[in-house]
Amino acid sequence: MHDVVIVGAGISGLLSALALAKEGKKVLVLEKNDYVGGVCRSYKVDGYQVDTGPHMITRTESGPLRQLMDNYFDVVPNFVPHGGYYVRLNGRVKPFPWNLRGWFNFDLIPQMDRLYLLKTLFSVSYIFNSGSDMSKMSLGDLVGENLSPSTMRFLNCLSYFMTGSSMKETPVARFLDAEHYKSQSKNLLDKLYNILMKEGAKDQMYPKGGLNSLINAVLSSLPEKRVEIRRGEEVLRIEGDEVKNVETSVDEYSCNTVVYSGFASDLPQVFDGLPEQYMGSLKKLYKVDALTVWLGLDKRFFARKGSEIWADSDPYTWVVPTSNYDPSLAPKGKQLASFASMLPKDCDIEKGKRKALETIFHIMPEIEDHTEMSHFQVLIPEKAVLTVDTVFANVRTPVAGLYLVGTDTERRSMGVTRASYSVLNLLSALGEDGIL
Ligand SMILES: Cc1cc2nc3c(=O)[nH]c(=O)nc-3n(C[C@H](O)[C@H](O)[C@H](O)COP(=O)(O)OP(=O)(O)OC[C@H]3O[C@@H](n4cnc5c(N)ncnc54)[C@H](O)[C@@H]3O)c2cc1C
Repeated sequence: MHDVVIVGAGISGLLSALALAKEGKKVLVLEKNDYVGGVCRSYKVDGYQVDTGPHMITRTESGPLRQLMDNYFDVVPNFVPHGGYYVRLNGRVKPFPWNLRGWFNFDLIPQMDRLYLLKTLFSVSYIFNSGSDMSKMSLGDLVGENLSPSTMRFLNCLSYFMTGSSMKETPVARFLDAEHYKSQSKNLLDKLYNILMKEGAKDQMYPKGGLNSLINAVLSSLPEKRVEIRRGEEVLRIEGDEVKNVETSVDEYSCNTVVYSGFASDLPQVFDGLPEQYMGSLKKLYKVDALTVWLGLDKRFFARKGSEIWADSDPYTWVVPTSNYDPSLAPKGKQLASFASMLPKDCDIEKGKRKALETIFHIMPEIEDHTEMSHFQVLIPEKAVLTVDTVFANVRTPVAGLYLVGTDTERRSMGVTRASYSVLNLLSALGEDGIL
């Protein structure tokens, strides 16, 4: 019998399996697909290697993934720095304004708005510093409606990329949570210095070799004979009190501890008898689809390392030329670029794809005749959208021995960093519960 059964072999499930196995547990991972990695993997299309959406991994030097890599990885991926972020607004492109000087030079939005937002930032920092909870106030509530349309587009676009929701729903806390805005010091002046003077996005990286190199690093660090991964086995039912019976499309397994890394909102479908109130709170978690268009270009159009945020396009688009980080992702002399956007709820996906491609060729008409590969992906980036009202699930469930892990169990950060935080939370909970 295994000590722990993990449902799902995305990055959260695999990192959990690695950590638990290195802590001495015998682990079984059950994955419904016939591949591992979930939405964190790479594959080939016509000679190009695409990822599941453009990825920049944040806080690789000092964040939760670093902690897991230091503690449990035998090999670590080679990370390449992201470079600058550039914003495109009203047809012009400027570096993202990370600090005070950048903000004063950021003339893509009117000066009056920049001064107003700076004043607002001072007041918010003061309130935040006095310990107020900023998770219930939205960015929209904070700035009101008196800003110019360009400024509103800019703030709205940032909100969508940082939380998956509009500025009317995005909690102010999401911006203050960012490590860039934090300082060890409790002193307000120190915090403001951090906000206004420091260069952001320094610690954001692309894994050389693509997302597969991160997954491969985890897989090759798994201790021999302590982890078994079964692909193509969907978990259909989990039942039992102390000893859990896990039924899949192929077999049945029993164990005392189950870690579920699918959507928390789907848990009631596999576990009968969860308390009503708990099921009600899981039901409120919702997710949005992201659309990524990958283009293989027969020559180089993007010269610099770094990415562009198109705040004046419909849809808002994040443009990352991934082969600039690793030329081997494209055939020699060619370029691979990804264009990611959010799909509105209930939209016609085929129409959404057409519109996204038209937008790209409208903004960059010069690439249309040089596009030799196009590939579309519709994927869910986070298991729960962060809004002012979202109450995330906890790694502990009301059922003893049944735990959750993944991006709907943690508010901090996003993507792989959020997933890594959730794995650290899981390890602490298992420790406190006497399982580790
Ligand atoms: C377009 C896009 C851009 C992104 N950009 C970034 C970025 O820049 N930086 C960043 O850090 N992150 C980014 N992300 C997000 C990041 O990829 C995800 O947050 C992370 O990979 C989620 O990992 P997970 O393991 O929690 O979930 P998943 O990858 O969804 O894994 C869950 C796994 O569980 C399996 N499963 C579910 N139910 C069952 C069942 N009943 N039985 C068996 N198996 C089951 C699924 O098949 C899946 O493999 C992006 C994602 C997308 C789509």
